[in-house]
Amino acid sequence: MSKMDFTLANGLLPTYRRLPRVFVRGEGVWLFDQEGRSHLDFLAGLGVSILGHADPNLVAAVQEQSARLWHVSNLYYTDALLELSEALWRQTGRQAFLCNSGAEANEAAFKLARKVMHQRGAPERYEIITFSHGFHGRTLATLAATANKHYQEGFAPLPEGFVLTPWNDLEALESAIGPHTAGVLIEPIQGEGGIHVASAEFLRGIERLTRESGVLFMVDEVQCGMGRSGRFFAHEWAEVRPDIVTVAKALAGGLPIGAMLAEPSIGAAFKPGDHGSTFGGNPVAARAALAVLQALEERDLLSHVQRMGHELMAGLQMLQQKHPAILAVRGLGLMCGLQLDQDPAPLVAQALESGLLVGSAEGQVLRLLPPLIVQQEHIERAVAILDALFGAREAS
Ligand SMILES: *Cc1c(COP(=O)(O)O)cnc(C)c1O
Repeated sequence: MSKMDFTLANGLLPTYRRLPRVFVRGEGVWLFDQEGRSHLDFLAGLGVSILGHADPNLVAAVQEQSARLWHVSNLYYTDALLELSEALWRQTGRQAFLCNSGAEANEAAFKLARKVMHQRGAPERYEIITFSHGFHGRTLATLAATANKHYQEGFAPLPEGFVLTPWNDLEALESAIGPHTAGVLIEPIQGEGGIHVASAEFLRGIERLTRESGVLFMVDEVQCGMGRSGRFFAHEWAEVRPDIVTVAKALAGGLPIGAMLAEPSIGAAFKPGDHGSTFGGNPVAARAALAVLQALEERDLLSHVQRMGHELMAGLQMLQQKHPAILAVRGLGLMCGLQLDQDPAPLVAQALESGLLVGSAEGQVLRLLPPLIVQQEHIERAVAILDALFGAREAS
């Protein structure tokens, strides 16, 4: 393999602030760059690669399918599509609309919510209520649903019909629900917004208010779903039952996929022709998703995540006691954030130099999303690297 110079990136639109590393190979929790340097991956491609890199079962499933059939379109069925929809049905009791990303899954949810209200004879109910610090994607509608004004700057006008309410404030939500409301959309654990875990009371309150007012209860589990919280869906911790759940990132362990999962009575508002996606349910991505679902079950990954989540939390809390730059530790399962007293970007760059991939989130938060297969020894190493970096900053 010839060595690539990242200045070749002049051919890319400058939408990302990338760190100067060219990765060429991955194995488990490890990523290798073209110099052969190893890196402990505690970001998992933004919460995507939950089985780590090059998982043998995932690779085999994709290889088998890709040698047999790649694409047919949604004018027909494929064996992979049928098997995936059946597996999702068994896992969630919901019917799936398959697409390619989180934003698309949320778009499908907005369209379904409007269609449901239209069918109920209430087309004036088109608004979706969302929460401060919420993030739902980068398309125009999902941007309109996203709280951070910074992401919206320069892209006006955004589609109408999105109303922002404060996080963890049921009274404000109650007064926001009105004659135009179609549904309420929440991330049970906010990711981009800074790792804020919704309390069970808050989620149950949303469930109660939406039921009482006859509007839809929708959750965006694009980042926190698929086992990351230690349950299959993070909202399961609160024992609530949303009408619509969106997933994407980790669903196929690294191949592009998204799904909007709806209770059958709600999903029935969509008729043939109402919505679509050329690649949605692509057999190769569907096979990868099946391998991920199988791994979660057969390797008992949910209880592993709960155990490892406790270890990681304990390590991060130990760091907080030692280092005054850490103001708070938040998270659930393997979705964790350190609230810092400073911009985390320099620390993220230094961690990379020390062989550790971590990320950042809104509000000066250092974000950790390790693969769900992470082991105790990896957690100890990641915590030790962060410990040394915080220590060095204090010394300087
Ligand atoms: C990443 C993310 C999205 C957007 O997903 P894309 O695949 O980038 O479109 C939506 N919601 C949440 C909670 C996310 O974390």
